[in-house]
Amino acid sequence: AVPLVVAISTSVSAKNGLLIRNRTAFENARKITAIIFDKTGTLTKGDFGVARFKSVSESLSDNELLQIAASIENSSEHPIAAGIVKKAKSENLTLDEPQNFQNITGKGIKATLKGKEIKIVSPGMLKEEEIESPKEAFKTDDETVVFVLSEGKLIGYIALADEIRKESAEAIQTLKKQGIKVLMATGDNEQVGKAVSDTLELDGYFAEVLPEDKQKIIKDLQAKGEFVAMTGDGVNDAPALAQADVGIAVGSGTDVAAETADIVLVNSNPKDIAKLILFGTATYKKMM
Ligand code: ADP
Ligand code: MG
Repeated sequence: AVPLVVAISTSVSAKNGLLIRNRTAFENARKITAIIFDKTGTLTKGDFGVARFKSVSESLSDNELLQIAASIENSSEHPIAAGIVKKAKSENLTLDEPQNFQNITGKGIKATLKGKEIKIVSPGMLKEEEIESPKEAFKTDDETVVFVLSEGKLIGYIALADEIRKESAEAIQTLKKQGIKVLMATGDNEQVGKAVSDTLELDGYFAEVLPEDKQKIIKDLQAKGEFVAMTGDGVNDAPALAQADVGIAVGSGTDVAAETADIVLVNSNPKDIAKLILFGTATYKKMM
């Protein structure tokens, strides 16, 4: 049987935006010494708006570039994709149907459109392909920039802006006050990672992180004696969520992440994690 105190705590948690999937999660919550937050959708709103979009191909207008990108992004579940599709719709562009859509894990997407191979990729992936990024693509530190390639050739870029959630700063200060190390891991580029980390006064960050690297980051921390919690939203995050001592799936994320996690953060609100740790500690004391 579920001890009464845990049952009560579980219902209190539900009211506070936490879905507890694993009962020992409570007991473990009070042991957390380090937490790694996902950036997009947890510390930030995950609601990307297109700030700029530009064709670098002479035979293509800016709107044509956007139309090509949105046609492919329409098949992706990434928050970046939602921003690009929304922008195309607001420009009244009609989208085409891509073939062979594929995720390039942690780096972007690709598909065939009108017989051409189109890729939309991160700055890191562009570098890997040995293509130089146009200087004007990076205007400010806090924009997420993705590059559009057609048949391996750069045809343009799209800069998007997300916003830090207003609850994040307070959540992080609360966690830090409890002596917990607060870190962030993001697949986004270094500049964006640093900007968010500086603004929120994090204890550290990892940028341009591939999904398989997230698991390694956690293992390394565990090897140093840390008891690690991690938040994640994507299918990609499942191995890292499983590796973490407390895996926390973000409510707005995919089902796979939720199924792997100990806890689901229903409202994707980082403040609820601070509450979880307080509850965990209180519950444990009551059981003693
Ligand atoms: P995160 O969850 O931190 O955003 P991801 O691994 O999901 O990390 O993505 C890492 C990077 O890969 C993104 O910042 C972006 O540059 C690129 N990327 C991923 N998915 C897409 C997409 N649908 N369209 C364009 N770029 C993408
Ligand atoms: Mg992700």
